[in-house]
Formats: sequence, C-alpha cells, structure tokens
Amino acid sequence: MTHSTDAAELTQERPAFSNFDLRVRRIRELSPHFTRVTFTGDDLAHFGTEGLDQRIKVVLPLPDTGFETFPMGRDWYTDWRALPDHERNDFRTYSIRAIRVPERELDVDFVAHGDGGPASRWALHATVGDRAIIVGPDARSSVRGSGLTWNPGSARHLLIAGDETAVPAISAILEQLPDSAVGRVFLEVPSRDDILTLDAPAGMVIQWIPRMSPHRDYGLGLVSAVRDWVGEHVRAVAGSSVDLDDVDINREILWDVPDVTAAPGPEDMYAWIAGEASAVKTIRRYLVSECGLDRRSVAFMGYWRLGKAEG
Ligand SMILES: Cc1cc2nc3c(=O)[nH]c(=O)nc-3n(C[C@H](O)[C@H](O)[C@H](O)COP(=O)(O)OP(=O)(O)OC[C@H]3O[C@@H](n4cnc5c(N)ncnc54)[C@H](O)[C@@H]3O)c2cc1C
Repeated sequence: MTHSTDAAELTQERPAFSNFDLRVRRIRELSPHFTRVTFTGDDLAHFGTEGLDQRIKVVLPLPDTGFETFPMGRDWYTDWRALPDHERNDFRTYSIRAIRVPERELDVDFVAHGDGGPASRWALHATVGDRAIIVGPDARSSVRGSGLTWNPGSARHLLIAGDETAVPAISAILEQLPDSAVGRVFLEVPSRDDILTLDAPAGMVIQWIPRMSPHRDYGLGLVSAVRDWVGEHVRAVAGSSVDLDDVDINREILWDVPDVTAAPGPEDMYAWIAGEASAVKTIRRYLVSECGLDRRSVAFMGYWRLGKAEG
C-alpha cells in the first residue's frame, strides 16, 4: 500500500459493513438441526456490533475456486455484481449468536436443512481450518446500528416469535434484555431435540413448539400459538383494524420493520416476529389488521421463503 493510499484510507469514512477474512476454529452440533460454527481471525479486532439481532452475510466458497474471485475492497458489492455468474460467490444472511473480540471468536448458529442451499450445505461439510468470509459491522465506521431491527422503546410487554432460523437472533436478544423484562416468547423448532437452554429474564416466558415432522408444516404451530396467546392476552383495539398492503412473498421479501432511529410506537406492547415468510405474513395480518396493533410497535421479518433461495 502506498502512502497516498494510506492518506486516503485515513480521510475516507469507513462503510458500516466490511469484509472479514476468517477461518473456522470450532464446530459444535448443538442439536440435530443446529450447528454452531465458531470463526476466528485477526480481522475480528475491528468487528463492531451491539449484539441483539445483528445480521451479517456469510460468503460461500465456489466449488472450484473458493474465494479467489471474491472482491475484498470497500466497493466489494459493486465489484461483485460486475462479475460473470460463474465467478460470483453466493452469500446468505445470518445472525451473530455471540462475538468475543478479545478472543477473536464469532459464533454463528446454522440451521441444518440439508444439501438444498449453499449455506446449509457449507455448514454440513465445514471443517476446522476452512477459510470463510463474513460481511459484518465495522467498528471503525461511525455508522452504528446497521443490520439491527430490535427497537422496543419503553414498551412494557414484549411478544417475540420465530422459527429455528430466528432462534439465534432471539437467543441473543433475550440475553441482553434487562432483568425486569416481561413478555412471551414462541419458538418453533424442527423437533423436541432442538430445544435449547436459553438465558433469559425470569419474566420472559418461553414456549417451544416442536414440529410433528421436522421438515413439514412450517409455521403452523407458531401461527396458532401466537394467535391463541394474543387472543387471550391482548385486547383487540376495537374499530381500528388497518388495511395492510398485501405483500406478495413470491416476488418480494417480507420486511416490515419500524425505522430503528425513529420514535417507537405508542403501544405498551412491542412485537418482533421472524421466520418463514408466509407464517410471518399470517401473523402480521392478524396482529395489525385484526387486532389493530400499531405498525410502529411491531417488526415483521421474512427470514426465508419455502421453496425459494435467498436473493
Ligand atoms: C436477518 C436474517 C437473519 C438470519 N439468521 C439466521 C441464522 O442465524 N441461522 C440460520 O440458520 N438462518 C438464518 N437466516 C435464514 C437464512 O438466511 C435462510 O434460511 C437461507 O435461505 C439459508 O440459505 P441456504 O443457502 O441454506 O438456502 P437457500 O439457497 O437460500 O434456499 C434453498 C432452499 O432451501 C430452503 N430453505 C432455506 N432455509 C431453510 C430452512 N431453514 N429450513 C428449510 N428449508 C430452507 C429454501 O426454501 C429453498 O427451497 C436469517 C435470515 C435473515 C434474513
């Protein structure tokens, strides 16, 4: 690097997200469908995150060339888009389960759903020492809070619901809640053996919902548990049913999240819902259209779509 580049580096603002060049340090099967991969590397010295539901991108190696063609500079996304298809690495969105900067360790919990997607396949076959590239928050940037959606404001009652893909984010959120937090958590997982031990305030009651069959009826149990609970505990705001724009989940990603920098909604309740898009869509319609919950008090995120690859 020349001195003139050094000077440019110093005066140029760093982007909120940068590439981190890492290796796999440990792999641990947490349960039949959760695999924890611990990444390591000196780059993690600059990894900046406020925890919670921090999202990242995991870049996946190409079968023959690995990361040879993946652009590592600041404009990596523009450069990546300009590449021919066969040189373009896939990447997928994940959550940070834990980060330990002093130890240079980053945990990501991958849901094992077979060989059908490059990320799940990668996690299935990963071995210690494998190279990995993660696009994550850069501590050297002045931009904070990118890739976070959790924003309960001063709401006193919390409703959190998600499937297995949201369990890592929800686990991290629960660990950071104040001891006084009160609310209900619904977690749908593939099987009974995927129920994990979570660290949460005593006032957060957790209900696990194992599916009858791990890879069928996604979202059914979650939708009905949330409906039952809301019907019993949350008074519908009479006369305030809201007409929602109908999100076509076959064409677009369902992402209806209040701006984290804006004032939170007026409700005494905050809800955060993530998982398979059609289940999230059903819960959204129920909470907002039928129960009249203010949209500023609810975050709805389609984390994946049945039958469709991310992207
Ligand atoms: C903000 C955010 C955070 C996320 N955090 C996590 C996380 O921490 N851990 C995690 O495991 N996932 C997480 N996800 C979900 C993950 O990005 C998707 O599951 C992704 O599709 C996996 O990529 P893939 O390459 O394995 O499959 P893709 O190539 O995207 O899809 C291939 C096929 O697999 C199906 N598929 C994808 N995911 C699943 C699944 N979980 N179960 C069954 N079938 C599936 C698709 O419907 C498609 O038919 C997160 C998503 C978002 C948006």
